Amino acid sequence: MHCPYCEGEMEKGLIQSPHEISWIKGEKRKMLGRARFHKDCVVLSELSFMKGSACVAYHCPTCQKIVIDYIDGKNDLNAKNAD
Ligand SMILES: [Zn+2]
Repeated sequence: MHCPYCEGEMEKGLIQSPHEISWIKGEKRKMLGRARFHKDCVVLSELSFMKGSACVAYHCPTCQKIVIDYIDGKNDLNAKNAD
């Protein structure tokens, strides 16, 4: 993947957590808990109690940016269609 800022080659990696990984709209922290119960949320990786959560992400060390493509949950390692 090429960086959308500098066009350089990005490094493929993972974002991992012992908790669900999600993006929630706004700048205020929400109560902890499953993001799907909040309005305007994107679940990047479902929680697995055995494995934690992980999603594929691309890193540009030049721009210090991380990009996550969450279309159809394809980069969620816990998604039902993941390997
Ligand atoms: Zn870049």
